[in-house]
Amino acid sequence: DHALYCAKRATRGDVVIFTERHEAEMSDCGRIEQTLRNADLVRELCTVFQPQYDILKGSISGFEALARWNSPTLGLVNPGLFIAAAERTGMIERVTGILLEKALAAAVTWPEGITLSFNLSPLDLVSARSITNVMRIVRESGIAPERMTFEITESVVVSDFERARDSLVALADMGCKIALDDFGAGYSSFGYIHRFPLHRIKTDRCFVTRLAEDNVVGLNILRAIAELCANLGVECLAEGIETEEELRSVQSAGIRFVQGYLHGRPMGAAEAAELIAARGEGEILAAAG
Ligand code: C2E
Ligand code: MG
Ligand code: MG
Ligand code: MG
Repeated sequence: DHALYCAKRATRGDVVIFTERHEAEMSDCGRIEQTLRNADLVRELCTVFQPQYDILKGSISGFEALARWNSPTLGLVNPGLFIAAAERTGMIERVTGILLEKALAAAVTWPEGITLSFNLSPLDLVSARSITNVMRIVRESGIAPERMTFEITESVVVSDFERARDSLVALADMGCKIALDDFGAGYSSFGYIHRFPLHRIKTDRCFVTRLAEDNVVGLNILRAIAELCANLGVECLAEGIETEEELRSVQSAGIRFVQGYLHGRPMGAAEAAELIAARGEGEILAAAG
């Protein structure tokens, strides 16, 4: 898997120049780890925001914060790679804290109906210290906890269920919501899914991608997940909607929320604020997509 691959590459001591155009070469994880250790994280880390769209209301319901690391030496590093590096180097709690503070600084300026989704690492969820820190940051930001959703992946629920559940219960008790991200991508957590607080399921992007290849099968899978959500009493959001056609399919599968390039690419805080200001004006939203 990815971590093993990185470890192998790192021991070969490859040195490559990291730019956005050389993403393939960014698997030199040793270099990423070393640069991350010495980075001025507060200055170099930031979050961008991708709109989440409510089909029923016909408007943006919130934004997902997505991590970006702009390193002076490496350039923009793929978040999948630097989050994994932060996890391996024991830096993830600090990285999570910095990203959450920055995301909330933007979110507290949004109107009350607009929510913030934030990704937690599996390591955050099994660390009582990190969850305590996350809860402190939410409290000190002044945001209504009900406007805050934490996205988690299935792997943590499977790997260390008891500890993960304690964290999720603590977050839910303070009023925050929990979303299961990349649902259906790898692990099967049907045995666990009703045993921790859950407010939303996000279908993995692969199911929307599959619509183009095999519309019948893709649509049936999305419909099955939408039905599961309805039975569990949780919201359903489909990730990776890039075209009007995909939007129509997802809607016909009974899914209420969508997120993808059609409604907006990840954007800076100023651009997100502009999009919120244009809320309700369908033409402007369509043009921004
Ligand atoms: P994710 O949470 O599932 O985020 C969705 C990813 O899909 C984002 O990539 C987003 O830019 C991309 N995406 C959204 N819409 C579309 C679309 O229509 N088409 C395509 N092709 N892609 C789309 P990104 O920003 O590179 O993030 C990758 C992953 O990194 C995230 O997956 C999440 O697992 C992780 N990540 C990002 N930010 C954070 C963070 O603050 N903390 C932690 N722990 N993980 C993060
Ligand atoms: Mg996510
Ligand atoms: Mg996802
Ligand atoms: Mg993902």
